[in-house]
Amino acid sequence: MDLKLANRVKQVAPSMTLAISAKAKAMKAEGLDVCSFSAGEPDFDTPEHIRAAAKQALDEGKTRYGPAAGEPALREAIAHKLQTDNQLCYGPENIIVTNGGKHSLYNLMMAMIEPGDEVIIPAPYWVSYPEMVKLAGGTPIIVSTTAETSYKITPEQLKQAITPDTRLFVLNSPANPTGMVYTPAEIQALARVVVEANIWVISDEIYEKILYDGAKHLSIGAASDAAFNHTIVSSGFAKAYAMTGWRLGYLAGPAELIKAVSTIQSHSTSNVCTFAQYGAIAALQGPQDCVETMRQAFAKRRTALIDLVRSLPGLTCVEPQGAFYLYVDIRQTGLKSLEFCRQLLEEKYVATIPGIAFGTESTVRISYATDMATIEKGMARLGDFVRSR
Ligand SMILES: *Cc1c(COP(=O)(O)O)cnc(C)c1O
Repeated sequence: MDLKLANRVKQVAPSMTLAISAKAKAMKAEGLDVCSFSAGEPDFDTPEHIRAAAKQALDEGKTRYGPAAGEPALREAIAHKLQTDNQLCYGPENIIVTNGGKHSLYNLMMAMIEPGDEVIIPAPYWVSYPEMVKLAGGTPIIVSTTAETSYKITPEQLKQAITPDTRLFVLNSPANPTGMVYTPAEIQALARVVVEANIWVISDEIYEKILYDGAKHLSIGAASDAAFNHTIVSSGFAKAYAMTGWRLGYLAGPAELIKAVSTIQSHSTSNVCTFAQYGAIAALQGPQDCVETMRQAFAKRRTALIDLVRSLPGLTCVEPQGAFYLYVDIRQTGLKSLEFCRQLLEEKYVATIPGIAFGTESTVRISYATDMATIEKGMARLGDFVRSR
């Protein structure tokens, strides 16, 4: 049979993080004792009151098609959250509920980007950003950052990357894969460049609730009135509320953009699962102590992991202030990131993600969204691995 795939498929690579997580899971299923640090999701169950709200909605018959942009009560609750948590002046007409933060970003690229458009993406980046830009026909412009600037793009670097074709700048703070958090002053400085160049910024704030050591999250849209008019916010429920499998996210921006995204969504996925949206309402309106309980668990593991990694020869890391990842520099081992991760998984049954997946060599990402026992066992094995090199 002669199957001809569309050209757009050839331009994108499958998600390396999902592939490695799958390999680690398959090894586990074979009965191998795998320590996995590859996951990009909390290891906690969704809090009980959120599950209860979705169950109740299901029992009450919230099982039919709803508006493509989301249940009005949820759009309202998200607008309220953005006003009170983030000082962003949005109403329900500025919000669309999507099938996760990933879907928000994809829909945005489809609504805004076309051939000839450039999108600035600092590296290390979340794996899907460049691929989404390519799927929309645009050109990702990768700006490399290093450990020396804590893997943050500087205002000068951003300025230099801007051309007449620049449409969008992708900002992710707290960041996956590095755990870096831009300080309010750094956000202000980037906002000034965005406003001056008259481009748009898409601010991926999915980790905003997962912060350590007094780090502060400032949405770039709240940097100034002018910045607000150049900002689109993407977020979701997956990370803060341990709701990865629910597939619930949102995009916030100018009503005209939200309308366009809603049209695209109405012809692709329609509304997000109706009863799941009632779980999201409970997440926003219910008690927030579950978020803090999970954050504190992450904080303990983070401290333990940093100490363990720093005690190993040949490994260095910049201390993360957010999310649940440690980005480790493996330069001194002399191994390429893919080789390092492949050998570590095959020989020691320890799963990590190679930095090359995020656009930087000589680094690996270790997720600490896993229990303390696994962290201790896994880091002992990692120690054996690096000492034998
Ligand atoms: C997890 C993640 C998302 C979105 O996840 P969803 O499950 O689609 O809500 C978006 N951006 C980053 C950086 C992430 O790590």
